[in-house]
Amino acid sequence: MPAVTVENTLVLPRVPEPDAAVERRPVRQVTTAPAGLEGEGFPVRRAFAGVSLADLDPFVHMDQMGEVEYAPGEPKGTPWHPHRGFETVTYMIDGTFQHQDSIGGGGLIANGATQWMTAGAGILHIERPPDDLVASGGLFHGIQLWVNLPSADKWVPPRYQGIEPRTATLLTTPDGGALLRVIAGEVDGHAGPGVTHTPIAMVHATVSPGARMVLPWPRRRNALVYVLAGAGSAGADRRPVHTGQLVVYGAGDALEVAADASQDGSTPSLELLVLGGEPIREPVAAYGPFVMNTKEELAQAFEDFHAGRLGTIPADHIGH
Ligand code: MN
Repeated sequence: MPAVTVENTLVLPRVPEPDAAVERRPVRQVTTAPAGLEGEGFPVRRAFAGVSLADLDPFVHMDQMGEVEYAPGEPKGTPWHPHRGFETVTYMIDGTFQHQDSIGGGGLIANGATQWMTAGAGILHIERPPDDLVASGGLFHGIQLWVNLPSADKWVPPRYQGIEPRTATLLTTPDGGALLRVIAGEVDGHAGPGVTHTPIAMVHATVSPGARMVLPWPRRRNALVYVLAGAGSAGADRRPVHTGQLVVYGAGDALEVAADASQDGSTPSLELLVLGGEPIREPVAAYGPFVMNTKEELAQAFEDFHAGRLGTIPADHIGH
């Protein structure tokens, strides 16, 4: 269950359903995310596996972290590592991650909070559960999304933004059947708190059983819907989708998703991450923690990292 909820969605601003003349986006592809391990061994689903970079553009990579209920001593994080050339977005739906970076940014990301880190020219960081959570165990569920930067912005100074859970813009659909948390970008003119170099929209939607959600989704953006939990259908032709699947939509001005009338016991509603961004349309050379335009720039990034030019681990660092 996501940490940020409301008792009565009907008090929220409503996003009107676009009228029938507004072109619905067709479903082009539905993929199933394979399971993997990240960092020091926390379980993830590789949400974008099997989708071409051209269709993801400006997004590059996304992991669903958990959902997992850790036993005491089990929670895991990442070691210190570098990034260059893009932005990382960490959205903690449930649980807590502690972050620290080489430019003095950091803090706790907990229960609905988002951290937006522009790696730009280079940064080192670490993300790990705080010691008390490692000791106690507990629920852990989040998203890490990589947003590309255009070549002109790959060399901007690194930047850190913490977005508190209560600052997400909350909206609903005409019948109150969906709760929309706008974290970045805008939906129907309602803007969320996240500020990005690359124009994107990021929304966490909870759709009640049997409810339908039709969102205006401007044509200049791409449209991706990832199913965090639950079962439903996508598009006018009702393609079935379930936990761990990604829907890639084609061109149009609105996107449509519906929640199945019955969800399984562990998942009361259909939980979706809805993403859209304006494609950058540049060559992408991505390897490990770097997302650049050319192989030469990738080689340079590794060289710069080994020479200490992406930053240094602070003296008061957390982790090991
Ligand atoms: Mn990282």
